[in-house]
Amino acid sequence: MKANLVLLPGDGIGPEITAEAKRVLENVASRFGHEFTFSSHQIGGIAIDSCGDPLPAETIDACKASDAVLLGAVGGPKWDDPSAKTRPEVGLLKIRKELGLFANLRPIRLFDELVDASPLKREIIEGTDILFFRELTGGIYFGDSGRSGSGAGETAFQSMAYSVMEVERIVRLAAKAAQQRDNRLTSVDKANVLEPSRLWRQTAARVMAEEFPDVKFDVVLVDAMAMHLINRPRDFDVVVTGNLFGDILTDEASMLPGSLGMLPSASLGEGGPGLYEPIHGSAPDIAGKGIANPLATILAAAMLLRHSLSLADEADAIEAAVGKVLADGLRTSDLARGGKAIGTKEMSEAVLDRL
Ligand code: ATP
Ligand code: MG
Repeated sequence: MKANLVLLPGDGIGPEITAEAKRVLENVASRFGHEFTFSSHQIGGIAIDSCGDPLPAETIDACKASDAVLLGAVGGPKWDDPSAKTRPEVGLLKIRKELGLFANLRPIRLFDELVDASPLKREIIEGTDILFFRELTGGIYFGDSGRSGSGAGETAFQSMAYSVMEVERIVRLAAKAAQQRDNRLTSVDKANVLEPSRLWRQTAARVMAEEFPDVKFDVVLVDAMAMHLINRPRDFDVVVTGNLFGDILTDEASMLPGSLGMLPSASLGEGGPGLYEPIHGSAPDIAGKGIANPLATILAAAMLLRHSLSLADEADAIEAAVGKVLADGLRTSDLARGGKAIGTKEMSEAVLDRL
């Protein structure tokens, strides 16, 4: 197949890790007989430096015309001045909005070889493989807010709202992903106290019964889910939840594998291009040293193949190659725990070799 892919390398280690993920995508393309074309565009601090705008119009146009976007990372101390007119992170928020991305996907998968890096015991964590769908554009973060009164009586409020349409579209995406996996979906809410959660639960249950009767569906309260992630993470396959609960639960879950440098994420909308990136930031402390772990970005590239191009075999091949590299004992410094470490390029070359 032909695909037009946009790279947004961004700041810090972003350019180093996206370059390696690109090599992996090129390799997969030639191996499986696909034609991928790549173009690189500016976002974040580097875009502020060159044109004063963290998301130039040219970048937006290129992303909209693409089949999928692979992003490195944005931000760094150089652009942290709070009095600055704009910030690198604004570029990321704007591109999500421009592309209509409403679902954030975060796989929490533990590679067997890294089980000992997890803060949880092997018997609890081994085999964990969860895919979170967090709603990204609604809920309390976008609700009306305000303050009134003064002194001890000063009061602040923020409202939480979800519409049936907003719940339906993300539940459908999550249910489709479940069908490609273990065929199980868990919806997380706080329906015992919150009205938007009652609408969420009711809508999710209806969509699942009407459109996905084959997918095993259950509902869990968010407080209980916070516990289950620690005491029985293996029991979950695909999890769908709102913006606030998803923010908290995915950060909690991202600690389970014990290494930030291994976790990819994706943001999807309806139809248009998806945006794929590592969950870690621009790591300014190690930028330019050639030691960053490229695996999260390489795994983000695998997600791109799976979710935007429907190339599941190709995605599986990349994930298997990453597993093989780890099984062979290769580690970048973030994973090496004082042992022998290899650099960014050596790591991606090892992945290419196992492909
Ligand atoms: P942001 O605000 O952009 O999310 P952050 O302050 O959360 O950034 P990161 O940039 O994610 O932080 O880095 C946190 C720590 O993890 C740093 O010490 C960084 O060097 C390390 N780190 C992050 N990503 C990687 C990677 N791919 N390889 C090795 N180390 C990494
Ligand atoms: Mg951070």
